[in-house]
Amino acid sequence: MIDYLTKSKYLNGLQCHKRLWYEKNHPERSTATSRSQQRILDQSREVGNLARDYFPRGERIEATGPVEAVEQTQDAIRRGIPYIFEASFIFNDIWVRCDILQKDSDSWKIIEVKSSTKVREEKYHLHDLAIQKHVLTGQGASISGTQLMLINNKECVYPDLSNLFTIEDVTNQVDRLMGDVPNNIQTFKNILGESAEPPVLIGEHCEKPNRCPFKEHCWEYVPELSIFTIPRLSWNKKDELVEKGILSLHDLPDDYSLTEKQRAYVDMVLNDKSENDKPEIDVEGIKQKLSTLEYPIHFFDFETDNPAIPRFEGLSPYQQFPFQYSCHILQSNGEVTHHEYLHTDTTDPRLPVAESLLKHISDVGSVVVYSASFERRILQDLAQFFPKHSAALQSIISRLWDQILIFRNHYKHPGFLGSASIKNVLPILVPCLSYEELDIHEGGDAQAVWDLMIRTTNERERSNMINHLREYCEMDTRAMVEIHKALLRL
Ligand code: SF4
Repeated sequence: MIDYLTKSKYLNGLQCHKRLWYEKNHPERSTATSRSQQRILDQSREVGNLARDYFPRGERIEATGPVEAVEQTQDAIRRGIPYIFEASFIFNDIWVRCDILQKDSDSWKIIEVKSSTKVREEKYHLHDLAIQKHVLTGQGASISGTQLMLINNKECVYPDLSNLFTIEDVTNQVDRLMGDVPNNIQTFKNILGESAEPPVLIGEHCEKPNRCPFKEHCWEYVPELSIFTIPRLSWNKKDELVEKGILSLHDLPDDYSLTEKQRAYVDMVLNDKSENDKPEIDVEGIKQKLSTLEYPIHFFDFETDNPAIPRFEGLSPYQQFPFQYSCHILQSNGEVTHHEYLHTDTTDPRLPVAESLLKHISDVGSVVVYSASFERRILQDLAQFFPKHSAALQSIISRLWDQILIFRNHYKHPGFLGSASIKNVLPILVPCLSYEELDIHEGGDAQAVWDLMIRTTNERERSNMINHLREYCEMDTRAMVEIHKALLRL
């Protein structure tokens, strides 16, 4: 059987020659797709399916094998079908499928559906169309245009999805790439024919345009205290250091050019290793910040979803809405209580979330969050959607107190590895608490699990997912409470 160079192999080859080679020769070195990555893939599929509804006289090529799919496509062309979905073409051992092929007199327009809201060259949107055009013209087809069908998050508001998509003509941009396609194809075919893996160093391309499934393998030898933890170090500099084989902070030359903050971070880390645990703590600054807290102190966190295809009144594509929150309340006598809400069905969760949190968050006392801009935005949206609760929600917004600022401004520790994220701070301040034991480890996974949970008909799975979501969200606010206690102990 012919091992075709497919469109996705071509795009993976553009990302990294080694990735292309590994996919053929060492697929076992890849890590499994995470739940949040799977959600993105599922969402793209949903967007692709919905896009077809906007072309009612179209026909989908159902065959999955290359030869059958090409035959069905040719049959659809002969029958004069105006829109062919998943149209399949093979040229010179390259096999592509076009999301939408639109008949345009004697020519065709290629329309690629993307779940992005704008043309993103770094996501290879244009290269995606360039390889399709190369194959179709190679087959003798005349292509009058190449277009991207994108999500319109500026105008579309549910329930009116008539303007969910916009079409952007990118013919000129794609044409500018066409000259590179034959060379790229030849390079990728050569790589696939090699027995040795191509010598590619790690770099920004391991995450862009998407996280490479071989990252764990290729980055295995990167030490924990690596140059990648230096705050805001540019990729040019990281690449330069990787090329010189400098990965550990311990190998970084003393005179290597860094900003003041970057140098302070490196010095702190290196001093810590030589002089035992030397974090930089501005105790007075922390005291002053803590003194602005008022009891009862609410430790609060939302979990949200933001689907590409909105499904609740007044929401635009990718607009976030909350489906869950957790709230620990610390009284002045040290008593701590926990409250939460999780929406468990497919109905709109926003009003139940808003009404529940207004019962749990009293009208006095601070509301501690971690990275306040996120919670502020969600609360503002709720206030706008539900004017009768606006005043109470605005009162909460006015009492937000951001715990992350302590770790941005007053408390640095080498163990934070250059980040103030709660996932980095918690193991240092409260080593006995950890996200590691949980089934859900990050917000993207929580989103994916919620989406699965509200749709599943399997009661056992549903109940497990509910428990995992509760554990995860509860951990976020419990972590804040324990971090707060650790700060008080200073
Ligand atoms: S992790 Fe990076 S270097 Fe390794 S295959 Fe992927 S993109 Fe290439």
